[in-house]
Amino acid sequence: MIEVNRQGEVWVFAEQHLGKVEDIAFELLGRARELADKLGVKVGAVIAGDSIKSVCEELIQYGADKVYAVENNLLEHYQTNSYTKVLCTLIEKHKPQIVLYGASPVGRDLAPRVASKMKAGLTADCTDLQIGNHEIKKTGEKHENLLLQIRPAFGGNIIATIINYDRWPQMATVREGVMPMPEPDAKRKGEVIDESVSLSAQDLPIEIIEQVRREKSVNLKASRIIVAGGAGVGSKENFRMIWDLANALGGVPAATRAAADLGYIGKDYQVGQTGTTVRPSLYIAIGLSGAIQHQAGMSESKKIIAVNNDPDAAIFDVAHYKVCGDLNEVVPQMIKAVKEK
Ligand code: FAD
Repeated sequence: MIEVNRQGEVWVFAEQHLGKVEDIAFELLGRARELADKLGVKVGAVIAGDSIKSVCEELIQYGADKVYAVENNLLEHYQTNSYTKVLCTLIEKHKPQIVLYGASPVGRDLAPRVASKMKAGLTADCTDLQIGNHEIKKTGEKHENLLLQIRPAFGGNIIATIINYDRWPQMATVREGVMPMPEPDAKRKGEVIDESVSLSAQDLPIEIIEQVRREKSVNLKASRIIVAGGAGVGSKENFRMIWDLANALGGVPAATRAAADLGYIGKDYQVGQTGTTVRPSLYIAIGLSGAIQHQAGMSESKKIIAVNNDPDAAIFDVAHYKVCGDLNEVVPQMIKAVKEK
C-alpha cells in the first residue's frame, strides 16, 4: 500500500494489443479527465508493450496529460507477472491516487494482482465513477474527494457505492461500453515519459507459442440500431423475424441472456450485465421482460421501443414507445412498414 496522496494523479491502464489501443482505454480516459478536473490533478495513462510509441499521442488526444510508456520486447504479449510488475513499479514511483482498468479479460486478471501486491482495495466491474465525500457514522470522521465506485450488487438488484478511504491507490475495473467515448482532440498537448522496468525470467514464466484473436460475431457497441429479442420470441426459427427487422432497419440483432441460453442466437449477441453494454440511437426490445440485469446493458439507449403482450412488463418502464401486443402480429407489420418506406 502506498501512502494516501491527495495530489496523486488519476491513472488509466491503457490496454493495447499489437499496437492498437483498446476502446475501453479511451472510454476510461474520458471519465478520468472528469474525475481529475474535479480533484485538480493530472491524468496519467500507463501503456506497456513492445511497439507502443506510435499510440502514445493518441492517448493524449483522448485526455491523458502524461503517458508513462514502458517499451520492452518482453512485454509483447500480456502476461500476469510481467505486467503486474510494471504497474506496481510505476505506482510505487509516482503514487497516483486512482488507477482505473477496463473490466476486460486482461484488466480482470491484472487489477486484482496489482491490488493484492499493493495491499490496496479494488472494486470490480464498476458501471459509474464519481468523486464524493464520506463520513464514517461511528466516528464522525470525514473524508473528502474520494472515488465513488458504483456497481450493481446482489445479482443486480441494488446499485452499490463502494468507497475506499485508507487503502491507496483507489482502484477499479470498469465495464466496457458504460462510459461514453470522448471525442479525440488532435490539438491536445501532453508529455510522454519513457519508463523502464527490469524483467527477469521469473516475471515471464509462460512461453507463448501462438496468439489467436477470436473476433466477436457482432460489434454491438458500434451499432446505431439494435433489435433485441427475448425468450418470448419462442424459438430459434421465430427469432428469424428479429434478424429480418434488424436487417430491414440496417441494424443488428441482439438478445437477452434467456434467449441466448435457449440457443435462439449466439452468446456474442447478449446485452446486459453479463453481456455487452450498448447505447445505440434506437433499441427495439421484443418479447423480453426487461429484467434489471438486461436493463443494465441497454437503458442508456437514446430511444427504446418495446413490444410485449404483458402490460406490466418492466421493459415498459424504460421504453419511450410501448406496443402492448403479440409479437407474432406486431413484428411482421413492423417489417412490412419499414420495407414499404
Ligand atoms: P423472460 O423474463 O421470460 O421474458 C419474456 C417476455 O416475453 C415476457 O415479458 C413476456 O410477457 C413476453 N412475451 C412472451 N410471449 C410474447 C408474445 N407472444 N408477444 C409479446 N411478448 C411476449 N439477462 C440478460 O438479458 N442479460 C444479462 O447480461 C443478464 N445477466 C444476468 C446476470 C445475473 C447475475 C443474473 C442472476 C441474471 C442475469 N440475466 C441477464 C437474466 C435476467 O435476470 C433475466 O432472466 C433475463 O433477462 C430474462 O430474459 P427474457 O426477458 O428474454 O425472458
